[in-house]
Amino acid sequence: MPGDPLEGQEVLQQVAHAPLPGENAPAAAASASTVRTYFASIEQGESAAQQRAEEAQKLLAAIVAFSDDAIISKTLDGIITSWNNGATRLFGYSAQEAIGQHITLIVPRELWPQEDEILARLRRGIHIDHFETLRVAKDGRSLDISLSISPIRGEDETIIGAATIMRDISRQKAMARQLWEREEQERFLTEVSKVLASTLDYQGTLANIARLIVPRLADWFAVDLLDAEGHFQLAVLEHQKAEQVEWARALRERFPIDYDAPAGLPQVARTGRSELYPEITDEMLAAAARSEEELAIARQVGYSSLMLVPLVARGKTIGVVTFVATESGKKYNARDLALAEELGRRAGVALDNARLYNEAQQARDQLEIILQGVADGIIVYDKDSRIIYANEAAARMTDYASVENLQRARPLEPTRRFEITDEEGRPFPLDRLTHKRVLAGERKAQAIIGYTQKAGGRPERWSLVTSSPVYDDRGEILFVITITHDITERMLAEQRKDEFISMASHELKTPVTSLKGFVYVLQRRLRKQGDAQALHYLERIDTQLDKLTRLVSDLLDLSRMQVGKLDLQRTLVDLDALIAETVENMQAATPTHRLTIEGATRAQVSGDEDRLAQVFINLLTNAIKYSPSANRVEVHLAREQDCAVVRVQDFGIGIDEAHQQQIFERFYQVTDPEEKTYPGLGIGLHISKTIVERHQGCIEVHSRKGQGATFSVFLPIVER
Ligand code: ADP
Repeated sequence: MPGDPLEGQEVLQQVAHAPLPGENAPAAAASASTVRTYFASIEQGESAAQQRAEEAQKLLAAIVAFSDDAIISKTLDGIITSWNNGATRLFGYSAQEAIGQHITLIVPRELWPQEDEILARLRRGIHIDHFETLRVAKDGRSLDISLSISPIRGEDETIIGAATIMRDISRQKAMARQLWEREEQERFLTEVSKVLASTLDYQGTLANIARLIVPRLADWFAVDLLDAEGHFQLAVLEHQKAEQVEWARALRERFPIDYDAPAGLPQVARTGRSELYPEITDEMLAAAARSEEELAIARQVGYSSLMLVPLVARGKTIGVVTFVATESGKKYNARDLALAEELGRRAGVALDNARLYNEAQQARDQLEIILQGVADGIIVYDKDSRIIYANEAAARMTDYASVENLQRARPLEPTRRFEITDEEGRPFPLDRLTHKRVLAGERKAQAIIGYTQKAGGRPERWSLVTSSPVYDDRGEILFVITITHDITERMLAEQRKDEFISMASHELKTPVTSLKGFVYVLQRRLRKQGDAQALHYLERIDTQLDKLTRLVSDLLDLSRMQVGKLDLQRTLVDLDALIAETVENMQAATPTHRLTIEGATRAQVSGDEDRLAQVFINLLTNAIKYSPSANRVEVHLAREQDCAVVRVQDFGIGIDEAHQQQIFERFYQVTDPEEKTYPGLGIGLHISKTIVERHQGCIEVHSRKGQGATFSVFLPIVER
C-alpha cells in the first residue's frame, strides 16, 4: 500500500520502475537532483492519490540516499545515471565523479565481458538477483560484491535502464574463505595424522608424508634428518615428476649444504625456528648463491616461495622440512607456515615413534639371535602358565621337534620318547614344576628333572631347571623366565661316583670287620701275657678301627639312601632314655667336653632306635668337633605342639648364614680357611637329615659365625 513503509527489494523495485525524466537523455542529466526535480514536477496539481504517491516517492528517495547499500542506476549502454551515498562509501567515487561514466569504472577488466552479458540480459527484461561478483574501488582494492539488478522501464514499458543494488560482502567472503581454509587445514592434518599412524616404517612414513604434501601444499618437498654428528641426511625429496627428483638429488650432491650460512637448514636446526620467504626475489637468489653456476640453477628452479620448518620430537629438533613453491606460483603466508609447523610437529612425533620402534625391533632381533644361540633352554611363561617364548635349545632339551611344538604342548605332556621324573625317578608332580612354584609365590625355584624312556626307568637325560619371576610396576608377575640347563654329564658323573662309593664301602667293610676280629683275638692273648704296652697300642688301633667302621658305615648308608634303600626297623622309642644313653656313651669317649641334658620330652616316637641314635651321635660329634675351645655341649629336651624337640647346642665356631642351608647337602663342607682344618667327609648332616625326614620329622640349625650352633630335631610324638 502506498504510504506504507516499504522495504528492501520492494523499494528497489519501485525505484527501478520509476520513470526517469528525459528518456534516452544524455546520462549526465540523470542525476539524483533530476530525480528530485521529477518528483517536484509531478507534485503540482495532482490528485490526492497522486499526492500519496508523491510522498511515497519522497520516502523512497530518502531511503535510497541513506541506504548502506550502494544503489546506482545506469542506462542500457552502461552509463551511470545515479549514484547514492552508499555507492560513494563503497567505491570511493563521489556522485559527481561517477555519474556519466561507464559502469566499467567499477568493473575489473577481466569481468567486462560478464558486464556486457548482464546488460544484454537486462535488455531482455531479466531481473538478476543476489549475484556475487568482483568490483574495484577507486583506490584499486578488489571488492567482493553481491548485486541485484532490475531493469528500469519507461512509461511505455520499454526498458530504458537498470537499477543496481550492491552490497560489500568482502568480509563475509573473507570469513567464509578463512573458515573453509581452516576446515581444509583440519582435514589435511587429520589425513596427515592418519597416514603417519598407519605405519611404523621410517622410510614409509616419510614417503607417505611427501605424497600428501606434493602438490597440494608444495611443488617440492624435502625432509633432511640430522644424524648423530649433526649433519643433514636427505631422507626424502618429492616432486610430481620423477625426473625432476633425480635432477634435484644430483644438485644436492653438487652443491652441499652450507653449514655456516646465516639462514637456511642449519640455522633452522640450530634455533628450532621456522623460516618463511613469502616471495623469493632474484636478489635473494643472488645473495644466497655461492657461484654463478649455483645462481643459474637457482633461477632455473624458478623459486616462488619457500618455508623451512623444524622437525621436532620430544622437544628436540631432529631435522628440517622444506616446502618450495615453484611452478604453482603459490605464495606462502603466515597461515601456511602455521600449518607447516604443525605438520613438522606431528611428523616429528611419528618419525620418532617409528625410530624407537625400529630400534626396539633391532634390539629384539639381536636378543633373539643371542637367545637362540645359547646352549641353555629358555622358556618364558605368562602369568597363566602359557609359553610366550622358547628358544630352540628349550625345544631340544624337552624333546620337542620344534619351538612351535613346544609352545603348543601342555605342561608335562609326554613327548615322543620321554617321561618326566624327579631325581629319584618318580613322575614329576605338575604343581612342583618350577614356573608353577614361582607363580605360587616363590621368588626363585629350582628343580632337577630327569627324562626317562618310560615310567620307572632310569633317567637318560637330566636338566637343572631354574625359574624366576619378572614383575610389573605394581609388583605383579608379568612373566616367569625358566632356564633349563643340561646336567646329564654331571648327573652321570655323580652316578658313577655313587656307584664307586657303594662298591668301595662294601669292599672296605670286609677287611675292616676282619681287622676288628684279629684285634679282638690279639687283645685276649696280650691280656693273658700281661703285655700292657702292646695292649695300649692295640687299644689305639681299635679306636681308629672304630672310626674307620663308622666312616665305612656312613658311606654305605649314603649309597643306600641314594638308591632309596635305607630300611627302618620301627618300634616305639622312649626318646628321653635314648638321649640319656647316647649322651652317656659319648661322654665316656669325650674327655674334653662336659655333655649335659636339660628338660625332658616325656615322649615316645615311632622309629628306628639305632638310626635315631645315629642322628644324635652325629650332632654331638659335630658339636664337640667344631667347638675345640669350649668345654661343654648342652642337650635341651622339650615338647612343642605335637613334636618332641631335641636341641644340641655348642659354643664353638658357628656357621655363617650363607652356608646354613647347604650344610645338609651331600658332601657339603664349609671351606672357609678356618673350617678347612677339620677332618670329615661332609655326609654326617645329610644322613641325619634323611633319617629325620624318614621319621616325618625335620631338622634345622640356628647359628652365627663365631657364636656356636644349635641343631634342633623335631619328631612327631606318638601318644601313649
Ligand atoms: P663333616 O664330616 O664335614 O662334619 P657334616 O655333614 O657333619 O660333615 O657337616 C657338614 C659341615 O657343616 C661341616 O663340614 C661343618 O663345616 C659344618 N658344621 C656341622 N656341624 C657344625 C657345628 N656344630 N658347628 C660348626 N659347623 C658345623
